[in-house]
Amino acid sequence: MKEWRENNMMKHRWPDAYQVIEILENAGFEAYVVGGAVRDFIRNVHANDVDVTTNATPNEVKQLFDRTIDVGIEHGTVLVILSETIEVTTFRSEDTYTDFRRPDKVMFVRSLEEDLQRRDFTMNAMALTKSDELIDYFGGRKDIENKRIRAVGDPQKRFSEDALRMLRAIRFSAQLDFSLHKDTLEAIQTLHHLIEHVSIERVKVELEKIWTSNNVEKGMHLFVSSRLANNFPGDWETFINKWGNFNYFENRANGWAFFSLMQPSEDINSLLNFYKCSNAEKLHVKHVLSAVEKLKKGPWTKQDFYQFNEEVLIVSSLYAASIFTIHIPYTMDEILQLKKAIPISSSSDIVVNGNDLMNWKQQKRGPWIKEVLNELTIAIINGQVKNERKQIKEWFFREFINGNLKPLD
Ligand code: ATP
Ligand code: MG
Repeated sequence: MKEWRENNMMKHRWPDAYQVIEILENAGFEAYVVGGAVRDFIRNVHANDVDVTTNATPNEVKQLFDRTIDVGIEHGTVLVILSETIEVTTFRSEDTYTDFRRPDKVMFVRSLEEDLQRRDFTMNAMALTKSDELIDYFGGRKDIENKRIRAVGDPQKRFSEDALRMLRAIRFSAQLDFSLHKDTLEAIQTLHHLIEHVSIERVKVELEKIWTSNNVEKGMHLFVSSRLANNFPGDWETFINKWGNFNYFENRANGWAFFSLMQPSEDINSLLNFYKCSNAEKLHVKHVLSAVEKLKKGPWTKQDFYQFNEEVLIVSSLYAASIFTIHIPYTMDEILQLKKAIPISSSSDIVVNGNDLMNWKQQKRGPWIKEVLNELTIAIINGQVKNERKQIKEWFFREFINGNLKPLD
């Protein structure tokens, strides 16, 4: 038993956080692990980052450690660099909120309880001492046992202070497979429109966290039933049950592809612009939509296998099957094999270039080169000519010098 406790001590689990706390305590301050790390400790799962809270001011923290970085000193946060980086934040409470998102000013306070009170949910409002003593003023542990997300204090007041919390509640519900406490859900249903005050970048991040969680369908159902979805463009409802089949495959852009496939509108691009998707994301979505459209009409051609990358091919076939119940004429392995069988993956893989063509035809550079290279790419993809100099030269003389094909000058 003693051994178990030793191994479970913060000293072993989070040696750097332990060291930070010990140094702060030795200097006469209080310090605790707080937030997500405590929640994950109680849930018995590994926490990625560990946050420390203290009654020392940022300047007092900086004096105690050799290497620190100011990241948000006005909010009380200093990064302390040991072998890992620990975020150390001064106990603070938040003043009035007038923009439904950020407090007008933060105030440093000297009591842990006040600091915990400003946090969003009971499960995120607990602290742990360096000897693993849990400080839990709001029943966070019980809520975790009941797999329940509950706002600290009056949910309507807390969501009016910061509307992002409403979406965080839903994201945590998808990530942790927790339900929302009745009052917390009702408060979101009442105040959902306040989400418009949150920047679309933050909304995008939270949606993507839902899509990369283990309970996407649950998260999306809550996004709709909480009415938050009403405030955002796009059809979130018609295919809501399809999200159960969604798999993001290591790429968040696939969430946008799946969402776009569900849209009746042709103007996907302006929808993606609204959500501030990057150009890379928009291109990925465009390819998936195009691959699915082709699949609706029949099997992909060799040129389709050439044009689309492996990921686009795989997700398009899976998403087409799950959203439109289209029969997919391939297994996943077959898709990968057919893709591999395409001899080139871009025109730069072709072993001849424009100079070769100019030499062979004894003709100056001009638009004809691009045209011949396009024809050649298609011929190679379709297996009519091998990607070898000798064969390409023969093909070129046969088709363009002696044959009927005449490239434009
Ligand atoms: P994750 O695993 O997603 O990082 P987390 O709980 O650590 O989860 P963070 O966004 O890193 O979440 O925030 C750290 C802590 O800060 C939270 O646990 C919570 O106590 C507090 N917090 C974060 N955002 C808010 C907010 N908008 N309102 C109130 N408290 C917040
Ligand atoms: Mg965190």
